[in-house]
Amino acid sequence: MKAFVYLRISQDRTDERSAVDRQGEDCLKLASDRGWEVVATEVDNDLSAAGKKRRKGFEAMLTAVESGQVGVVLAWALDRLQRNRRDELRLYELCQRKNVVLAFVKGPELDFSTAAGRLVADQLGSVARFEIEQKSERQVRAAEQAAKQGRWVGGRRPFGYEPDGLTVRPAEAAAIQAAYDSVLYGASLREVARTWNSQGFTTGQRRYKAGHEGEPSLWRADSVRVVLLNPRNIAKRVYKGEIVADAKWPAIVSEERFAAVTAVLKNPARVSGKAGGRYLLSGLARCGVCGAPVHAGGASRRGVRAYRCSASMGHFARRAEPVEEYVESVVVGILSRPDAARLMQDDNRPDAEELRAQAVGLREQLDADAVDLANDRMSRSQFHAVTAQRRAKLATIESMLADAGRLDVLGPLLAAEDVRAAWESLSVSRQRAVLHILMRIVIHPPGRGVRKFDSSTVELIPKRRDDAGRH
Ligand SMILES: [Zn+2]
Repeated sequence: MKAFVYLRISQDRTDERSAVDRQGEDCLKLASDRGWEVVATEVDNDLSAAGKKRRKGFEAMLTAVESGQVGVVLAWALDRLQRNRRDELRLYELCQRKNVVLAFVKGPELDFSTAAGRLVADQLGSVARFEIEQKSERQVRAAEQAAKQGRWVGGRRPFGYEPDGLTVRPAEAAAIQAAYDSVLYGASLREVARTWNSQGFTTGQRRYKAGHEGEPSLWRADSVRVVLLNPRNIAKRVYKGEIVADAKWPAIVSEERFAAVTAVLKNPARVSGKAGGRYLLSGLARCGVCGAPVHAGGASRRGVRAYRCSASMGHFARRAEPVEEYVESVVVGILSRPDAARLMQDDNRPDAEELRAQAVGLREQLDADAVDLANDRMSRSQFHAVTAQRRAKLATIESMLADAGRLDVLGPLLAAEDVRAAWESLSVSRQRAVLHILMRIVIHPPGRGVRKFDSSTVELIPKRRDDAGRH
């Protein structure tokens, strides 16, 4: 019979006999005693490199058994053969299927071609299977419990916090807060990534290359997005994609700011940062003929900034300056009104404290409903009806919280003595964010042969308060 010798070096034993050459000698001796021909020997070294990596030797051994090349697998002891229950089960199932003998220097010989051998293998297999299930159930329960208690169970250090997951790391927390502001004020995720990279922050993940220490990864738009959408930053514990508890760690941003940024990032019509810094209205304004977004460019002469309809036929291309000047004068006019602050803030601004309290109350009620359901105090259909109602209410409150966060954008302008100067001091991306909150902009063709700017060709439609949550 052809035999496959499988050896494993592991650090869990200091026993002299476990040294791999001794293991090998013993296996070869057993093979010659039985008259087996050793056709292959594989060694795995658990001491080297990543522990989670699949063991090449073990896999090679399974492949050899699968292909029918060997009738015997030889190892020093059962615990040398398999490292975990999952591998053990794979091996038993395969050997059973292929009628292969498992032989150990220290331990039983399992002949899977005989009824007795199969019986033993079945039992060993079901013990392994039972342990796997028990373990994963235990792990699932433990993870769920930790989540419901708002505990952090470890893992990669979250950006903004120390490795304990509980202590805020001030420099990173400040960067995160600034990023929420930037996104709210119209910056793209790519701009945030660039800022974080230039400030020397990394994602904490290292890219390993053979023989190298690995380079810390740079931020990219998608990794920034993951950070900003993580409810960890408002001290909420998430389990399986849902907020399940108040976390044990402190928040980095307020709930309304978080909700506002979430609304911005999840808005499919979000104006991307590609728009180009010099153009106030590109992507924000729409064509008055077809409704397509208005983009920058398409000027008739070089050097002239222009807006054009982005539809394939393009309904117009017109000079940018007069349009922008008009829009800016209207905005400054609105915000300079003596009652602007009252209009924008007192009437529009939801009471964030009150909303937050309501949201907390609703979340608590949702928890209580689940308990009632579990204790049969409520039927399943009652439960569904009640929770659907509560969730809808919660969604409304969360969108109002988002409005509260968004309206903060107008704060500096409303407080300014000289609104025009304050407006001009804003970056284009912040100006865009202000426009986005205040109005919809529709640009019409300038008219044939018209040289003078006609303000009726630029339509500014105030956004009503109840639009603010959507747009
Ligand atoms: Zn058009």
